[in-house]
Amino acid sequence: MDWNDFGQWGRRAADWAQTYRQTVGDRPVRSRAAPGEILNALPETPPETPEDMEKVFRDFETVVMPGITHWQHPRFFAYFNSNAAAPAVLAEFLVAAIAPQCMLWQTSPAATEMETRMMDWLRQAIGLPEGFAGVIQDSASSATLAAVLTLRERALDWTGNSSGLAGNKRLRVYCSHEVHTSVDRAIWIAGIGQDNLVRIPTTGEWRGMDPEALGAAIRADLDAGLTPAGVILCVGGTGTGATDPIATCLDVAESHGLFTHVDAAWAGSAMICPEFRGYWRGIERADSVVFNPHKWLGVPFDCAAHFLRDPDDLVRTLAIQPEYLKTHGKDGIINYSEWSVPLGRRFRALKIWFLIRNYGLEGLRRRIRDHVTWSRRLHDRLAATPGFEIVTAPMWSLFTFRYAPESVSDLDALNQRLVDAINDDGRIYLTQTRVDGDLVIRFQAGQFDTTEADVMMANDVIIDIAATLT
Ligand SMILES: *Cc1c(COP(=O)(O)O)cnc(C)c1O
Repeated sequence: MDWNDFGQWGRRAADWAQTYRQTVGDRPVRSRAAPGEILNALPETPPETPEDMEKVFRDFETVVMPGITHWQHPRFFAYFNSNAAAPAVLAEFLVAAIAPQCMLWQTSPAATEMETRMMDWLRQAIGLPEGFAGVIQDSASSATLAAVLTLRERALDWTGNSSGLAGNKRLRVYCSHEVHTSVDRAIWIAGIGQDNLVRIPTTGEWRGMDPEALGAAIRADLDAGLTPAGVILCVGGTGTGATDPIATCLDVAESHGLFTHVDAAWAGSAMICPEFRGYWRGIERADSVVFNPHKWLGVPFDCAAHFLRDPDDLVRTLAIQPEYLKTHGKDGIINYSEWSVPLGRRFRALKIWFLIRNYGLEGLRRRIRDHVTWSRRLHDRLAATPGFEIVTAPMWSLFTFRYAPESVSDLDALNQRLVDAINDDGRIYLTQTRVDGDLVIRFQAGQFDTTEADVMMANDVIIDIAATLT
């Protein structure tokens, strides 16, 4: 195949994708492949001679598709959804064809300037004040790493990159137990060390960080001669949607001059609806905020929106200017590769532009509001069903529950069996988490093609399958 045949195959692929997305709800959500099944279906050695596209395409359908878990299935209620709305998928297709590498302004001015404009659209959409500058990172994990590197350099008076950490001050970073594991990994990679990631207890219905305990931990570290460097807060934690009291935690951090990063990877998208912004009251005082449009906003993976109140510290931490990358004679331009760990960058802003223009913020808000409303309806039904108990109340569209019939003593084992049986059944897909040591089942709705009927089907599937287990 060459570019002369591309149109024909492109139309075929587009037709395939349209039919797939229209009918994906008929498939079992989680792949039923056994371990090794796909590997064994793939030849052990690469072909020496060209193979016909017809055959490649056929194998794609028969070998690959059975090993796919359908993330765009309307009854995918596991993890957090990673949506891919039609206009944004189209933009990705165009970007794949143009294939620009957008590390510097001059390596594609449209990519840089579109990124600046799209990040400002998103800033306005989620209600962050003017002055926050944004950059698209490949993942929330990368944004958190960039933030941790920044807080490290700031606390070391910009000597960490040059002198290394040996013999330098011992830094301390604070977060709750509810933050994502990407925080641990950022701390490892930054050389701060897991032992210096201080876990602050949580309190209250949102399972958020206790600001008084934060203050006490910082003071104890200062007394011990250690160097507090930053606080990492979460809004909508992965397990149960745990949310730190942003304003009061920022008060404490500010009083000690600490850098603050807020991970709102999932829930940040919901902030396009003003009624949810109370959950992160005070956010305008954070130094760094990340959310993933590639989760609840409909932008295909990967796209993490990273906002900085003052990007200078980040750029000071990450910019390298070897001679061959210098762009002479252009003042006032942005080279976004100086804002992130990787040098090479995809043109990610185009998919945001296609999506927001074609759906409008109202179209996006409606989906998020529907998901929250339907999830709460399901919550109400399960709460009223004998044998079921709600473990954590809805945070946006996420709640946790467990099956706890009086006759059973090992509830962890029972609930693991329930999740496994539900996922083997295939009509819906759920995952489990632990809350205060107990195994519980998570439910969250967030797929763009989900309907209220899909969410209510979850009620029937959960109750029917639970009844077969006891
Ligand atoms: C999904 C998620 C992450 C990780 O996001 P990536 O973009 O995959 O790195 C981090 N934090 C929270 C709260 C998340 O929900």
